[in-house]
Amino acid sequence: MAAREYDAIVVGASFAGLAVARQLRGRVLLLDRNEVGAVQTSACGTPLWVTQALGVASSVLQVHDRLTVRTGTHSITYDLSAVPFCTFDYGLFCRGLLTQCTARFLRTPVTGISDGRVITGDGAFSAPIVVDCSGWRGVLVSGDEAVKPAGGPYTFGLEAHTAVRDDRLTFFIDRAVIPRGLGWIFPVGTGSLIGIGSYRGFSKLRAPLERYLTNQGTVPERYHGAYFPNRLGRATTGRLFAVGDAGGQCLPLTAEGIRPALYFGNECGKLIQRVIAGEIALEVALDAYRGVVERYRSAYRALQWVQWLTVHAPVRWLALLTALAARGPLLPRWWPRYGWFGRIEPGTGGA
Ligand SMILES: Cc1cc2nc3c(=O)[nH]c(=O)nc-3n(C[C@H](O)[C@H](O)[C@H](O)COP(=O)(O)OP(=O)(O)OC[C@H]3O[C@@H](n4cnc5c(N)ncnc54)[C@H](O)[C@@H]3O)c2cc1C
Repeated sequence: MAAREYDAIVVGASFAGLAVARQLRGRVLLLDRNEVGAVQTSACGTPLWVTQALGVASSVLQVHDRLTVRTGTHSITYDLSAVPFCTFDYGLFCRGLLTQCTARFLRTPVTGISDGRVITGDGAFSAPIVVDCSGWRGVLVSGDEAVKPAGGPYTFGLEAHTAVRDDRLTFFIDRAVIPRGLGWIFPVGTGSLIGIGSYRGFSKLRAPLERYLTNQGTVPERYHGAYFPNRLGRATTGRLFAVGDAGGQCLPLTAEGIRPALYFGNECGKLIQRVIAGEIALEVALDAYRGVVERYRSAYRALQWVQWLTVHAPVRWLALLTALAARGPLLPRWWPRYGWFGRIEPGTGGA
């Protein structure tokens, strides 16, 4: 096999790419324009079991067994203790997953795919299996079409690290701060990430976030932000697999994209490993992966519908709905079911 030929190439080495790569053995190339774990875009909030199942629990910064949702002047606190959440250190989490991969990692930008070869800043590489895990831009699956993020299928989120210390996760709906979106306060041990997100993909959020932080009596230390999809996309395009934000797998409403990227990445990786091992054909794996993702389409639609309601319903209705959702019989119907979504069995994959 020539030096530039691999069994599989994975583009993007964040949540989705690492989840795929840790399932693979054989000649695998993992590409990213940044060092693994170096550029954080997310508040890194996820159920605690995720870090435990993947063997990276040492990255946990703070455990949360309460979630407060503030709508206007109303405030509801949910007990999460059945499935606690946590915030974690992005660098430690990703580097922990990388140690479980046997793939060759190469830091280089990927610009596209041509004649089945992946074009990078370091030349072209080829493999029969290519997985796009490059985030919302989907550098391979979008082809020549530049993704237009504003006005619909993408949310834009911006957050700042602050010194605020708290003991619970908070979401807030305050149309004076962010008219068509939501805000959050995610405590991370030494402080909190406080952010706002526009479901319409409006990206000029720095001024409203700064005003909000000033009103809260706190000062932003550093900002980060990005787009992420808020509706499910295509799992495959031709012979390419798309995982994580590249496949539109971030959950609408809650903007949880880490769990889906890890879960679908895990499933995709297991199927690809079977192709590498000669057990199934690539077409069978593509078809099976589409099937795995399709099973969740109705759940994504339901969350998309609640997201629509969050933008359009009067705030007093939202206050009523959040209060109803906290009571029986509604509460046991969605929680802890939501908390266990995308369950990854401990010990699946990794070196
Ligand atoms: C402000 C904010 C807060 C968020 N908070 C949360 C949260 O608390 N919990 C949660 O579950 N989700 C959260 N999300 C969503 C979550 O971050 C994403 O859904 C998740 O990161 C998707 O993972 P991914 O691996 O698909 O893509 P990404 O994490 O975006 O990774 C893509 C990787 O591809 C690489 N890449 C991109 N283009 C190229 C290229 N051309 N060449 C080479 N490499 C490339 C990037 O460097 C990156 O490493 C948040 C998002 C934002 C913006």
